[in-house]
Amino acid sequence: MDSAHVESDLVNVLFTEEQIQAKIAEMARKIEADYEGQDLLVVGVLKGAVMVMADMARALNRHVEMDWMAVSSYGSGTKSSGVVRIMKDLDTDIAGKHVLIVDEIVDTGLTLSWLVTNLASRGPASVEIATLLRKPDALAMPVDVKYVGWDIANEFVVGYGLDYNERYRNLRDIGTLAPHVYS
Ligand code: 5GP
Ligand code: MG
Ligand code: MG
Repeated sequence: MDSAHVESDLVNVLFTEEQIQAKIAEMARKIEADYEGQDLLVVGVLKGAVMVMADMARALNRHVEMDWMAVSSYGSGTKSSGVVRIMKDLDTDIAGKHVLIVDEIVDTGLTLSWLVTNLASRGPASVEIATLLRKPDALAMPVDVKYVGWDIANEFVVGYGLDYNERYRNLRDIGTLAPHVYS
C-alpha cells in the first residue's frame, strides 16, 4: 500500500490548510451578516462537501441546522456523466426555511443548478449556494452562486473532500495530481 505517500502524489499545492481555513472564516462572516435574525439550514452535498461543511458549520458563530444530500453526477475518473441522481435525500422538510447549499466545487454547474431547482420546488423561504471553489466553465451555466471561495483554472483538483477514484479526500490541502497517478 502506498498510504505513506499520499501527500507526495500532489504535484502542485493550490491551497494550504491555513489558506482554506482563512477563506472559510471570511465566507462565514458574510453568511452570518446575510442571515442575521433568520433560521438557517445548511445542506452539505455528499461526499465532497464533508470537509467544507464541517469547517464552515464550526466557523459560523450562530445556530445552524445541518442536513445532507447525496447526488451523483460524476462516474469514476475526471469526466462529468451529465446525469444527476439523488442517492440520499434530505431528512428535513425545508418548506419555509432558509436553505444554504454548501459544496466544495462548482465545475459545469450541472449538479447545483439541478439541485437548486429541485430544492426550490419544495417551498423553502430561500435557496442559496456557498462553494469553496468554482471553475470557469461554471460561469456559462445559469447557476447563481452567492458565496465563492476561489475561482480556479480548469484543471482537476483533489484534497479537502475532492477525490480521484475515491482517494485523496482526506488530504488537508487542495492540489493537482502528479501525472504518474493517472497512468
Ligand atoms: P459539476 O456538476 O459542477 O460539473 O460538478 C459536480 C461534481 O463534480 C463536484 O461536486 C465534484 O464532486 C466533481 N468535480 C468537479 N470538478 C472536480 C475537480 O476538479 N476535482 C474533483 N475531485 N472533483 C470535481
Ligand atoms: Mg460536491
Ligand atoms: Mg468525485
